[in-house]
Amino acid sequence: MSLSLIGKSISASATLKLNETAAILKAKGEPIIHLGGGEPKSKAPLDAIISAVQLLNSGEVRYTPADGIPALKQAIIRYTDDFYGHRVTPQHVIASSGAKQAIMVALQAILNPQEEVVFPAPYWVSYPEMVKLCGGVPVPVLPEDGSFYPTLRDIEQVVTSYTKAVIINSPNNPTGAMYSEQFIAEIVEFCEKRGLWLIMDDIYHRLIFDGRKPISCYKYAKDLSENSKLIVINGASKQYAMTGFRIGWAVANKQLIAIMTNIQGHQTSGPSAVTQYATVGALNGLQSSVESLRLTLENNRNIMVERLRAFEGVRVTKPDGTFYCFADFSHYNKSSTKLSAFLLDKVRVATVPGVEFGLDGYLRLSTCGSVKDITEGIERIKWALDPNSPNELYIGQRKLVRDWL
Ligand code: PMP
Repeated sequence: MSLSLIGKSISASATLKLNETAAILKAKGEPIIHLGGGEPKSKAPLDAIISAVQLLNSGEVRYTPADGIPALKQAIIRYTDDFYGHRVTPQHVIASSGAKQAIMVALQAILNPQEEVVFPAPYWVSYPEMVKLCGGVPVPVLPEDGSFYPTLRDIEQVVTSYTKAVIINSPNNPTGAMYSEQFIAEIVEFCEKRGLWLIMDDIYHRLIFDGRKPISCYKYAKDLSENSKLIVINGASKQYAMTGFRIGWAVANKQLIAIMTNIQGHQTSGPSAVTQYATVGALNGLQSSVESLRLTLENNRNIMVERLRAFEGVRVTKPDGTFYCFADFSHYNKSSTKLSAFLLDKVRVATVPGVEFGLDGYLRLSTCGSVKDITEGIERIKWALDPNSPNELYIGQRKLVRDWL
């Protein structure tokens, strides 16, 4: 069939595919434990719901400006001031249908074919595909020291005359690693010096643990004029548990935002009015749900790490934030795809193979679910992999017999 080269080069989103498979199995009554998810299980803030319902009740749900409604832009401006200590105007802000679209439109606005985009690995599954969608070349770089914390040297080594942008995602999906203030300072300075766009994907910036505080990249920028190539991405999905609302945003220089607005205007038009109003409610309303989510996730992280550490063949780095734990299971199987499929097949636990994030041998385990999901999920994995575990395992009434080790 005659399809586009770009279209054919794009793979399905591994995480979305996994969600689908898990949902189908669950609907069939299978006792699935979903440790593959990327969304909090808590409810959206009441202020978000009230605000959306108010608009719905009016019965007047119209097109919105391509770059978002003024009330949302104002809320984002205040958010940027509160959390980044950086004052911007509405022309520096675009609201998109998810942080995903904000990143995509930013890449479309800055990339020419063959230009390269550098980002640390492991990385969020969509970065390489988004860069390819723009005709660009993704350049992932694994930290040389084998950790989840890149250094400026790691980045420097792969930057060439083709490099147009760097993407930094801290705290990071899938590792949960929050990069040091020093690294953020260095990367901001480096990109400024080299004239590179720097996309800071801060979607998890409030979901951090052990007393950490969100880092503002603006603090380290020397040039905050309209020449600044710093693009800050954030959104409602994770911090407010509003993944299905699909609202994210970008803050950048006026010219870039204008181009992004033109692109978005032809792509999807402005985001849904209903969910923009909901996000205004979330941003301007009571913030207690964010802290309560953060506390739950920190507690879940502690339980997950403790359980994994008791698991002999697994190596785990304690996540600093997010709701993921990226654990090394290579002792059991070097192929994370095979291992993940095996676990879903044998013990009905959904995980995401590390290879999808650019590092094989690892599995991404999510802490979004209940404590019971985490403890039972890891217990099932341990039973499936540990040759010293008993021969049988009960899942509800179902008896599993281990016949593979
Ligand atoms: N960036 C990262 C690192 C993510 O993990 C995600 C969601 N999984 C996004 C961006 C996109 O978020 P949204 O739901 O707002 O599109």
